[in-house]
Amino acid sequence: MTAARVTRLSPLVRAVLAPNPSPMTLEGTNTYVIGRPGEGAIVLDPGPADDEHLARVRAEAGEISLVLLTHWHPDHAEGADGLAEMCRAPIAAAAGSRDDAIALADGEEIGQEIGQGRAVLRALATPGHSGDHLCFLLEDEGTLFTGDHILGFGTSVIAPPDGDMEAYVRSLERLRDVDVRRMFPGHGPVIDEPSAILEYYIDHRLERERQVMEGLARGPATVGDLVAAIYFDVDPELHPAAALTVAAHLAKLEREGLAREQGGRWTAPRANTMPV
Ligand SMILES: [Zn+2]
Repeated sequence: MTAARVTRLSPLVRAVLAPNPSPMTLEGTNTYVIGRPGEGAIVLDPGPADDEHLARVRAEAGEISLVLLTHWHPDHAEGADGLAEMCRAPIAAAAGSRDDAIALADGEEIGQEIGQGRAVLRALATPGHSGDHLCFLLEDEGTLFTGDHILGFGTSVIAPPDGDMEAYVRSLERLRDVDVRRMFPGHGPVIDEPSAILEYYIDHRLERERQVMEGLARGPATVGDLVAAIYFDVDPELHPAAALTVAAHLAKLEREGLAREQGGRWTAPRANTMPV
């Protein structure tokens, strides 16, 4: 049985699922085609440079006026050059992300004439998962394309040094002020309860940080020790990714003066002076 590759999500949005499933990309990358069917489109996150996938995206989009990127990771952006070249469409990404792209600043709107109408997306700087991460708000429909900032299920991996936990939590908190009815993530299904998911994501990060600090309070620990203790109930296949996220928590705590590393072992500088 072949999985459904193209899903119509709203009058303006269709998703084309890329054939790159993995523990990190869930069922695969969601490439979004934004525009009314038959009237041309903006493509958001072309996904991997897979000929069959890109041909499907082209067929679905018709005339492509713009290729938008949430961030530089290959599972979202690798296909951008080929697609943009084939369609003679410009690429737009966060300012500073790539030289060959239209540079988008935080809050900037980017719109394209599409058929009789115009699709307008507002770029929201959401660094953390990557330094250049943008979410895009489609105000006409009250939907937010969240890239890897928020996923359809599970949580996002923060991999230092480009990934930054402090920035990530701030970028999650920032979305509390954005009025959104639905979220279209880079991986996984549509999110119909954005504020509940957002609070879950923020709580989850605070909980992990608390667990890391608890781990350090028990004595010096390596990243591996902390992963084994905190992620004991998580598929070991995901432990390497968890190690990156733990490292991101430790980097944040280190900057805050709450963790210190020596020869690969982490300690809490003030742990032994605190009452138990
Ligand atoms: Zn990513």
